[in-house]
Amino acid sequence: SDYRLNEVDVTDTTCGYCAVGCRFDVYSKDGEVLGTRPNPEKAPINGISTCVKGKFSYGYVDSDDRLTQPLVKEDGEFREASWDEALSRVKEGLDGIQQEYGSDAISLVASSKATNEDNYVMQRFAREVLGTNNIDNCNRLCHAATVEGLSDTFGFGAASTGLTALEDTDCYVLVGSNTTEAHPVFGTRIKQNVRDGADLLVFDPRKTQIAEYADQFTRVEPGYDTTWINGMIRYILAEDLHDEEFIAEHVDGLEKIRESVEEFTPEFVEEKAGIPPEELKSAAETIATADSCMFGWTLGLVEHSHGTDNIYAIANLALITGHMGGPKSGVSPFRGQNNVQGGGGDMGPLPNNFPGYQPVTDEENREKFAEQWGMEMDEMPAEEGYRLTEMFLAADDDDLKGMFIQGENPQISEPNIGHATEVLEDLDFLAVQDIFLTETAEYADVVLPATSTVESNGTYTSSSRHVQLVKRAIEPKGNAKPDWEITQALAARFGYDWGFDSPSDIMDEIADLTPIYGGISHERLETEGGIPWPCQSEDDDGTPYLYADGFHAVEDSEKAQMHVADAIEPGETPDEEFPLVMTSGRVLYQYHTGTMTLREEGLDAYSAESFVEIHPQTAAEYGVADGETVTLTSRHGATAVRAETTDRPSPGEVFVPMHYLEGGANNLTKEEPLDGPSRAPEYKVTDVQVTLEGGS
Ligand code: SF4
Repeated sequence: SDYRLNEVDVTDTTCGYCAVGCRFDVYSKDGEVLGTRPNPEKAPINGISTCVKGKFSYGYVDSDDRLTQPLVKEDGEFREASWDEALSRVKEGLDGIQQEYGSDAISLVASSKATNEDNYVMQRFAREVLGTNNIDNCNRLCHAATVEGLSDTFGFGAASTGLTALEDTDCYVLVGSNTTEAHPVFGTRIKQNVRDGADLLVFDPRKTQIAEYADQFTRVEPGYDTTWINGMIRYILAEDLHDEEFIAEHVDGLEKIRESVEEFTPEFVEEKAGIPPEELKSAAETIATADSCMFGWTLGLVEHSHGTDNIYAIANLALITGHMGGPKSGVSPFRGQNNVQGGGGDMGPLPNNFPGYQPVTDEENREKFAEQWGMEMDEMPAEEGYRLTEMFLAADDDDLKGMFIQGENPQISEPNIGHATEVLEDLDFLAVQDIFLTETAEYADVVLPATSTVESNGTYTSSSRHVQLVKRAIEPKGNAKPDWEITQALAARFGYDWGFDSPSDIMDEIADLTPIYGGISHERLETEGGIPWPCQSEDDDGTPYLYADGFHAVEDSEKAQMHVADAIEPGETPDEEFPLVMTSGRVLYQYHTGTMTLREEGLDAYSAESFVEIHPQTAAEYGVADGETVTLTSRHGATAVRAETTDRPSPGEVFVPMHYLEGGANNLTKEEPLDGPSRAPEYKVTDVQVTLEGGS
């Protein structure tokens, strides 16, 4: 660098890319980010490591495409507007719909990239100002089933293990997790531990990079995870490998589980899930005899029409083997976006819960929030609102007329891009708040410019439940403003005076109303560093791992509650017309819908375009050469994409990344069926046919 160290500003902050929660110092000068460097003293999760995104990928912040002024649409074209005009237009738009169709004809989409404080005020805006629980976020498209399954079984819909499990566990079981690409620093730590002797078992339809480090890699037919996990439980019980003492002391429901897994014989598992009996047995024995074991998963386990059953199944496996509730043993869903745990869940931008997972249907909760916000009880909405996926279906039925979307890009992330496009086009009013004119924002009536992670103050909560400070390293670009300020200014237009001066003020209100954040304040985070929730009071140091004092899924019992996991068939089955099964996922160099990373030249050198991975044998059968463009067609859509021949997928499957509009997986996936309890879509099983461009 041309700069000397004493000429630059150094700001310690938390990474804005993924939910591993790496911390580092950002070096900046004259409003430009020069680079980042981990400061191990302030980085409990990553120490000296970061990945390519956290380390190098800040060019987007200064991109010419950044929104620096509000935009309003006039005669189909955007023009710049003042904040005053833009906020008036949003108020008018939302007001108009409220008056004509009622509050529940509006839905808000909050952002898991934004801070906890941003999300807290967004849910307050929905409930207090608009009077609706129609608010949700991208958690619905990823770990919603994890949250349902884990909270029903254990009490909290979050990772039970903390950081110890990452460095000091005997056995890792990874299911549907492309860890090294999606959560690189977790991947590195697991690989290090495996090098030091820990066992690693990987279950996935696709041979991901982490599978190459596994003691056992087992290919699973997409959509059949409940089947193999139930089969493994059956084997463990039959061979008396279960932890009887742990179960007797801590678990309810063994007998119904024993009965429910009876049909999952090794032969049945092989037929359905494609797993040879020896592989199932050897993995079962490794898990059951390990001193400690962490079960980690990402979206391969949950993005199914029966995602919650998959979570019940893996939670049952953790319980019968006694690997639950310890510092080194337990469950660890790897969360995706930087703040999906906090901003996407804990803060309550959810249709069913206030902050801290306090149900909106409970009168005492409604009273508590109404009192704090100065509302009459009958003004506080009591019915659960639409889940994100349901919003797009409600719009089809004309029940939803307007949306306000903050920092999300559903045109690419919703299952079935074609359907999302129709919905966005047809809305009576759409406001979008973002840092770029995203594919979704193109359909908006008003676009509000927000700040990027390095221009924001507040907190993010990591996958391991650590609440950590985020600090402004550079001033916002142009007239962009932090999300919380925009929401507060909009509330003021409706006549609500919230009076927050800073994110720290907002956190104080969060702490007052949210028991799991009860002891958290910005002052404490500044002096003590990240604090893992629950942190109930000022003298509580937080909870590095959950359930040391028992479970609390039901009020009158400290025992974990096992639920029968039904092995429901995937929503579609390959046939002659659509003979291959497509799975989807992430690549290291991109992040979600690419809003930020597709503007990074350094990253795009590796992965600017989508691709489809096809097994060489299948490629030969279809006459497809490596690098050739093919058309993928599903029952729901079609897209052209470049073929990459590789044995990562099996011959019967193909893999397409999710980040792209052109050639991306969500051109082919479907909006229904949804998982029953969580209403999450089935991204991971889509039948497709492959044809050569121009026909073959
Ligand atoms: Fe950021 Fe995740 Fe990379 Fe860490 S692993 S630097 S949190 S993107």
